[in-house]
Amino acid sequence: MPPAPAAPRRPLSLFGVQIRIHVSWVIVALFIAWSLASGSLPMLFAGLPAGSYWSMAGIIVIGLAASIVLHELAHALVGRAMGISVDRITLFLFGGVAELHEEPKRPGGELAMAIAGPAFSAVFSLVLAAAAGAVGQTGAPTEVVMALGYLATLNLVLAAFNMAPAFPLDGGRVLRALLWMSTHDLMKATRIAVRTSEVLALLLMAAGLTAAFTVEAAGGLWWIMIGLFLHGAARGALRESEARQMFAGHAIAEVMAPSIETVPAAYTLDRFVDERLMASRHGLYPVMDGETWLGIVKPEDILRTPREAWKTTTMGEICTPAAATPVAGLLDDASLVMDRMRTQQVQRMPVVHRGSVVGIVTLQDLMGSLELWRRFRPKPL
Ligand SMILES: [Zn+2]
Repeated sequence: MPPAPAAPRRPLSLFGVQIRIHVSWVIVALFIAWSLASGSLPMLFAGLPAGSYWSMAGIIVIGLAASIVLHELAHALVGRAMGISVDRITLFLFGGVAELHEEPKRPGGELAMAIAGPAFSAVFSLVLAAAAGAVGQTGAPTEVVMALGYLATLNLVLAAFNMAPAFPLDGGRVLRALLWMSTHDLMKATRIAVRTSEVLALLLMAAGLTAAFTVEAAGGLWWIMIGLFLHGAARGALRESEARQMFAGHAIAEVMAPSIETVPAAYTLDRFVDERLMASRHGLYPVMDGETWLGIVKPEDILRTPREAWKTTTMGEICTPAAATPVAGLLDDASLVMDRMRTQQVQRMPVVHRGSVVGIVTLQDLMGSLELWRRFRPKPL
């Protein structure tokens, strides 16, 4: 999947699932509204005043956002029933992303969860078409009836597009679940599903390129962009899936950096910067009061303190208390720790055993081990 989008627009929650709208979606939505109001709608429904096209475009874009959220919510709720937690849905660029932080445990669970979204969209399309018919009978404004009809078609497109067998789209997940059922090997199933998506993405790009030169440049470019996006997403999904499967069953002790540099709580910020930070340049320092672990300080915490106060402020005063620091246990499963770091958006975590810090694990270390494992131990243990 694309990298975790930043800046949430508005915190919103449905059935305990957080819904975020990424700024890229707002831009795409504005573009869709503009192209509907000035292009597609006047072509489809000729002879209406310009204002009508804009109000129809508005209803369609808002309805589209709701349709995508409901589609993702269907995945999330079925996933939850199958024991897979989804805590956030993000409206992002080309659609929605239900952020999964673990692999499904069984192919049946993945199959049900993957099918839930397109199934919902297909049913919702029928509901909207029926609603358009019913509203039409009541003498409601034509714009509303037409917009509902258009949304019914869009939901059908949403269902069909997502069922393309391109991992990590829903159809690709269905394919992977079926392969997983028949091979009993999740890694193998993932690899075949990803290869299939890559072939599909390349075909899409080739078709787009042909169309760009023969039929219409803009339409062809869209296909090329979607192909590129799918190709990248499939690669990303493969890497993420490999990481989860390779780390599963390995304790964090195997991948952490065991050498840590602690700092006494009594050190002033000035002294810490001069004597420690410049020399060792770590991204995280455990702060100790004798043998007791007080908390952690990151270099950016120092910058938050006014420079005049560096001579008088101590590390103990500015540290994030141990109780408020996300930590990994020495024996925790590495794949779960990696998921936790992604969810909490932290680059490094102290590894704790019996109340004291025994190491530090960083996302960079995890990726490094993964690269080594991929080269030297290509089959997971
Ligand atoms: Zn879906």
